[in-house]
Amino acid sequence: MSTQPAIRLTGLTKTFGHVNAVNGVNLDIAPGEFFSMLGPSGSGKTTVLRMIAGFETPTSGTVELFGNDVTTVAPFDRDVNTVFQDYALFPHMSVLDNVAYGLRVRGVKTDARLAAAREALALVRLEGYGDRKPTQLSGGQRQRVALARALVVEPKVLLLDEPLGALDLKLREQMQVELKEIQRRLGITFIFVTHDQEEALTLSDRIAVFNEGQIVQLGTAEDVYRRPASSFVANFVGTSAVFSAEEAKKILGHSGACSIRPEHMDIVSGKTPAGTIALTGTVAETIFLGASTRIIVDLAAGKRIAVLEQNDLNRKHTALGSSVTVAVHPQFLTPLS
Ligand code: ADP
Ligand code: MG
Repeated sequence: MSTQPAIRLTGLTKTFGHVNAVNGVNLDIAPGEFFSMLGPSGSGKTTVLRMIAGFETPTSGTVELFGNDVTTVAPFDRDVNTVFQDYALFPHMSVLDNVAYGLRVRGVKTDARLAAAREALALVRLEGYGDRKPTQLSGGQRQRVALARALVVEPKVLLLDEPLGALDLKLREQMQVELKEIQRRLGITFIFVTHDQEEALTLSDRIAVFNEGQIVQLGTAEDVYRRPASSFVANFVGTSAVFSAEEAKKILGHSGACSIRPEHMDIVSGKTPAGTIALTGTVAETIFLGASTRIIVDLAAGKRIAVLEQNDLNRKHTALGSSVTVAVHPQFLTPLS
């Protein structure tokens, strides 16, 4: 395998009029990585993807694919392919012809391209669907066709822009597992754009968190979740109680701004466990989530926090309005820069 990064972005910048859509992005993505770009709507994810694909020319900076500068190379001549959220299938063509399309425009002979298209359909578990028209398929099946169509040309890098956004939750979760399996099997680089933090955490080897056209944190799913570097990341990736330096000092006796996850605090009755910080408060809301319950507590020190309690066999009911003690486990306090 090549030691060159699959993708190298250097000082990548794109302005539209006076909008800084992407602002100085530097990033290396390794061959075979499942990489996600995660960020709120408008943070520049699609624009980065379009510059990698060649649909958009950077205002400044460069895009390299496996060591070659492709910044000004036409989309067609790059070893990348894109799966869009809206599928973009040709409605008048059969599923098989849709999948074979990329090979047809590359001049591959009929027999060879139909065989390759059938193989790609099998990869996405749609054997036997080749004769249908896209309108005769469900949303999830159409998305699989789009995936097969992108994979059939054997790109080295597959770009996926919110590909599961139009699917309902159950189907989305099922497709996430399949995407991951397909990526592992083929060993190609996937760059996956999403605004859904859970999806990014589920799928990715590494995640770049975007805000306002910049990467604000880069790391493994676990890094980004366990050690968010800023209050933006702490709140965008999962939820956190965020304490300013002043609040941390006053409420926790801790120096420096920090955050803590809801699952790293407990509602305790009686004695507070050794080594924990005890905070008193009143239960403002309880939100039943099935396997767990989110308990919103108004702290006596004047701050609202959320605590996540597992609904296991030992769990007792926490009544609305009751006075409670929240035990904070200080080893889970994450410093914020
Ligand atoms: P995301 O995919 O993270 O939602 P985008 O990359 O689509 O973000 O957009 C980033 C910013 O650039 C937004 O403010 C968006 O309005 C702007 N933008 C994107 N494409 C264009 C365009 N073709 N013309 C003008 N502004 C654009
Ligand atoms: Mg987008």
